[in-house]
Amino acid sequence: MPLIRSSAAELANLMATGEASSVEITRASLDRIAEVDGEVHAFLHVDAEGALAQAAEVDRRRAAGEELHALAGVPIAVKDVVVTRGLPTTAGSRILEGWVPPYDATLVTRLREAGLPILGKTNMDEFAMGSSTEHSAYGPTRNPWDLGRIPGGSGGGSAACLAAYEAPLAIGTDTGGSIRQPASVTGTVGAKPTYGGVSRYGLIAMASSLDQAGPCTRTVLDAALLHSLIGGHDRMDSTSLDAPVPPVVEAANRADVSGMRIGIVKELTGEGFQPGVQKRFEEAVQHLVDAGAEIVQVSCPSFRYALAAYYLVMPSEVSSNLAKFDAMRYGLRVLPEGIDDPSAEQVMAATRDAGFGDEVKRRIILGTYALSSGYYDAYYGSAQKVRTLIADDFARAFEVADVLVSPTSPTTAFPFGDKMSDPLSMYMQDIATIPANLAGVPGLSLPSGLADEDGLPAGFQILAPAMKDERMYAVGSALEKRLHAAWGGPLLARVPSLVKEA
Ligand code: GLN
Repeated sequence: MPLIRSSAAELANLMATGEASSVEITRASLDRIAEVDGEVHAFLHVDAEGALAQAAEVDRRRAAGEELHALAGVPIAVKDVVVTRGLPTTAGSRILEGWVPPYDATLVTRLREAGLPILGKTNMDEFAMGSSTEHSAYGPTRNPWDLGRIPGGSGGGSAACLAAYEAPLAIGTDTGGSIRQPASVTGTVGAKPTYGGVSRYGLIAMASSLDQAGPCTRTVLDAALLHSLIGGHDRMDSTSLDAPVPPVVEAANRADVSGMRIGIVKELTGEGFQPGVQKRFEEAVQHLVDAGAEIVQVSCPSFRYALAAYYLVMPSEVSSNLAKFDAMRYGLRVLPEGIDDPSAEQVMAATRDAGFGDEVKRRIILGTYALSSGYYDAYYGSAQKVRTLIADDFARAFEVADVLVSPTSPTTAFPFGDKMSDPLSMYMQDIATIPANLAGVPGLSLPSGLADEDGLPAGFQILAPAMKDERMYAVGSALEKRLHAAWGGPLLARVPSLVKEA
């Protein structure tokens, strides 16, 4: 099998047995990027020289007999909302064009120390706001399954680079679904850990109480391996959990669901979900029954208000977090036209007008309004109360079920332009993923098959209680095994080969 088609775990084995070096593997990824990224546009920045230097260094360490991390030498792509020392970081926005951070996010430090060559930075909706990557200031990423369709968002680049075989691993961030929904529509795997499970230090904040970084991969085991590498306490993040990383790798390897109670959430299935997506979901549930799991039906009535609560809490935090882009310290600075001696406020206004896209402005305005005196209680305060109700619904559901399941995204990948004129229809993409962010619980998406209507990937979501992340890996891995057996191999083996045979 060509190197670029191998999973991270397979690549790790090849390096351990001396059948391939990190330099060879990294070069294969870089060649593939050179070959197809003109079409896919998963990357905003590629660091060939830096990646190859890191690969050579890890090969040297291995040759010297050093003890290395399981993923040492496996190249990785990083979403452009994560700061990387010496590598441009824009969060998909004009306002940060050309900015080169002076420090690394904690998770990047962990990648570097473990010896994972960083291939480059992936495209995304501006400041992680969107579900299609069409809101990137640098043009959209295309879905490798159909170049006329969206790769999901906001982390479309991190998902598309996996599906196009440009990288075996990627980092994403998930505030309302931006790891899981792109995974769903590209036939890849994505996991949002428990809130606080992975350090947020060095993530450019969107909504701090919801943001969580996590793994984007092609297999459930790879996601577990990457999760356990980037997870764990960080004193630089005051919301970081001071607890060991859940035993996710062990759970993924065991892939055992016998006796597990799997809850189907009534509010997250059926009406509103594309028939082919719903059908693949139901078949996947049957596979879990065959593997020995027990199915229970649960109801989470407050989930119907999740989207509304999210679109108050999230923009409120956005309006505060994005106030720092003020043209004074770093990033873009635009001088207002026709003003001789502009004040700081006039420079800020001109810069923010030119530097932010429409969706970002929409959310800043919404959030500023929701937080304004006189409206705070009615909007932000009510949304926070709904948030508590949603957490209560989860707590009740997890009394009768070990994990909850649903389709990840209500539809398969839609064509470019389909939802750009109707923000609400774009927001609906996250109907099933947002509750997890509001409650801080972990969620994982893996492919459930191709929908009959359009032959495009559908996603299966698994939600677990906070700090029980291992459960979603156990269920995901067991399901993946059965699905691969049914399909005769991974779903991604069927992705169109793009430029030429990979
Ligand atoms: N699509 C959702 C939004 O636009 C989620 C984004 C995210 O998870 N970063 O807010």
